[in-house]
Amino acid sequence: MKLLVPVKRVIDYNVKVRVKSDQSGVDLANVKMSMNPFDEIAVEEAVRMKEAGTAQEIVVVSIGPEKAQDQIRQALAMGADRGLLVKTEAETEPLGVATLLKAIVEEEKPDLVIMGKQAIDDDCNQTGQMLAALLGWPQGTFASKIEKKDGEIHVTREIDGGLQTVSLKLPAVVTTDLRLNEPRYASLPNIMKAKKKPLDVKDPSDYGVDLKPRLEVLKVTEPPKREGGVKVETVAELVDKLKNEAGVL
Ligand code: AMP
Repeated sequence: MKLLVPVKRVIDYNVKVRVKSDQSGVDLANVKMSMNPFDEIAVEEAVRMKEAGTAQEIVVVSIGPEKAQDQIRQALAMGADRGLLVKTEAETEPLGVATLLKAIVEEEKPDLVIMGKQAIDDDCNQTGQMLAALLGWPQGTFASKIEKKDGEIHVTREIDGGLQTVSLKLPAVVTTDLRLNEPRYASLPNIMKAKKKPLDVKDPSDYGVDLKPRLEVLKVTEPPKREGGVKVETVAELVDKLKNEAGVL
């Protein structure tokens, strides 16, 4: 199988996000950026499939600024074969990304697209579903286990009542959840080797896609500060507080 893994450059999950003083967005100046954690899980799964002989080639694609090459190189160091950066300075939105990924899929012809369930910067949780819909391909979202059996992909997903397993005919789109695997760290020799792996740079116009944002951000604000909790001694005290202080009973 040939696998396509889209990875997004996002603010690192350890960084305390600060809102810009003009409320136009989040302050990204001098802030550590990383590969979206769910995409790291997708790369890891792809590499495991290749190691198991289920997959033969892994192509990693990112749509973002020049610096997104760092995240592609990380994926190459983890074991992907080839990278593609579609360069844009614009903030990407799920529909634009899905439209562009569709064009890339038509050119690369992968059997399976494995991607994160959600990007931790915009928390949209839309791109995989939109891509599957645009391609008319089956989708298995929030995968906690992926297996290839009898030419189909079996995806186990966590739902409210337990685990659900869906079987997808190839080609298909799968999105990854946290429990799928633990991504490896790239070793130094592999980081050095990754520098020699091919990484193409293209423009959205090469695919005839315009990434112009369709959404308008009105303002971005901090969430209200959390108030400290208190410990109560008895149930009666709790009920009293809920009635008389919180006014919720
Ligand atoms: P979202 O729908 O924005 O929460 O993103 C879901 C997934 O789509 C991410 O985990 C990535 O795998 C992929 N994705 C979103 N934006 C990009 C991008 N700019 N470049 C590459 N992949 C992306």
